[in-house]
Amino acid sequence: MTSERFPHSGVPAADVLSTLAEMRGGDLDWRSGRSFSLVYNPDDPELEHLVEQVGTSFLHENGLNPFKYPSLQQIEADIVSAATALVHTEPMAGSCTSGGTESLFLAVYTAREVARSERGIDHPTVVAAETVHPAVAKACHYLGLELVRTPVAADLRADPERIAAAIDDRTALVVGSAPCYPYGVIDPIPAIAAIAASRGVLCHVDACLGGWMLPFMERLGHQVPPWDFRVEGVTSISADVHKYGYAFKGVSTVLYRDPAMVRRQWFLYSDWPGGLYGSPTTAGTRPAAAMAGAWAAIRFLGEEGYMTKASQVMEATAGFTAGINAIDSMAVHGDPDMSVFEFGSDRYDTFAIGDVMDDHGWNLDRQPGGLHAMLFPYHRHVIDEFCSDLADAVANHGESRGKAATYGGVAP
Ligand SMILES: *Cc1c(COP(=O)(O)O)cnc(C)c1O
Repeated sequence: MTSERFPHSGVPAADVLSTLAEMRGGDLDWRSGRSFSLVYNPDDPELEHLVEQVGTSFLHENGLNPFKYPSLQQIEADIVSAATALVHTEPMAGSCTSGGTESLFLAVYTAREVARSERGIDHPTVVAAETVHPAVAKACHYLGLELVRTPVAADLRADPERIAAAIDDRTALVVGSAPCYPYGVIDPIPAIAAIAASRGVLCHVDACLGGWMLPFMERLGHQVPPWDFRVEGVTSISADVHKYGYAFKGVSTVLYRDPAMVRRQWFLYSDWPGGLYGSPTTAGTRPAAAMAGAWAAIRFLGEEGYMTKASQVMEATAGFTAGINAIDSMAVHGDPDMSVFEFGSDRYDTFAIGDVMDDHGWNLDRQPGGLHAMLFPYHRHVIDEFCSDLADAVANHGESRGKAATYGGVAP
């Protein structure tokens, strides 16, 4: 082995740390409130410190066998119970996962199993609007389902008529978003779920973004279109704790109306010289730190804390959207239901404006239709700065430098 590819002798811990610090010099600075995806600044140093402390203390545990770690079993049960209370279903009707992608995977997987065993469908499809998150396409790709995507309506929401037309005998699952990532609008879930139910098809609501935010907006008196299990026909929901639940990366929840559906997820394997193997989610060995951190965040904030965070996020959203719409030719696209939106200019080159914003130190995401932002509590401190830099960028932009539209956006 060459010393460059594999260190021959170890180096002192201090050197390891200083090398890493240097390597991280070019990383996104999420604390500044100048980035709009990937990491969420809850603007709460005490919360941040607590989840770090708890996470560190659970670094070495393994959630694979909950019976060896009663604390982890309790932690997962408590997180699931809290999540199910938010979306109005039974306390044990779900699992913790590693993120939104795994939650969606498991929802697609359980739907495939139901379609096969109860309806005899060998080549199932999933129907969703084109705005559905790529994790659904990824799950279909891995799990051998065909994703049928339908155009959105003029309001950028899923079009129930087109969804209805795309459902056929092979359809295992219809997916709606609450809200979708590109435009932050909530699909018409009651109409979609009713269509799915009338055709004997399961209906998943991807509330990875909204699951830990919309319930608190509702309590604050915001107009939130119906999206959770109170809507008849919704059979499963994904909700990420590592977004608006303010946990650090690695925790989401997948939740079901019917607690028996959770059992569809379980993988049990007895014919093995190593003995009985059982696992509720896709991972084998399960890291515990993120779940423990999430548990601590939920305890620390409580309903009141989450409501305060939600009001801070909506304060930031009101400030940003008013500032954007006040600039001549600039507008937020559609009528976002939460704190996530696309915006752009109908007269100037929106991407050239984004480039000038980069020069000002902002890290706006680009998508095909414009610039994209997702707001968190800290952003309310930078409303004025953002709006004046944006006005400057609109007045003084040149040619677009051709940055590609990439999700999570800070394109190279
Ligand atoms: C973030 C997100 C996902 C995927 O979640 P990961 O945690 O990144 O795997 C799915 N759907 C929506 C709407 C999202 O915003």
